[in-house]
Amino acid sequence: MYYIKKRMEIAGSHSLRLSYESKCSRIHGHNWVITVYCRASELNADGMVADFTHIKQRVHDRLDHADLNSILPFNPTAENIARWVCGEVPGCFIVTVRESEGNSVMYVASDASAADIAAAGAL
Ligand SMILES: [Zn+2]
Repeated sequence: MYYIKKRMEIAGSHSLRLSYESKCSRIHGHNWVITVYCRASELNADGMVADFTHIKQRVHDRLDHADLNSILPFNPTAENIARWVCGEVPGCFIVTVRESEGNSVMYVASDASAADIAAAGAL
């Protein structure tokens, strides 16, 4: 199995629709750090799991310097962003989203194996 990791920094704004009072319901910004892990049992015709530039185009280029509420069809929590990114990138099985120093989330695809998760930790 082959594994790759792509890290991207995305500046953007969001506001959260929450069931409780929170400052996060007001529009504010983050410099999210989104890290995508992809796997493939065989390389493509170009000898890659995926072109890092294509991953950047699918994630960074769509989200960077954007109001995430206006471009994503869901409440843009870090958890929801992580799940969405995983679905947008072929071969992706883990996404981490660091919202700020000390605040990070991880989404792991349901078909990821323990070996996949261990490999991602080693990248
Ligand atoms: Zn926020």
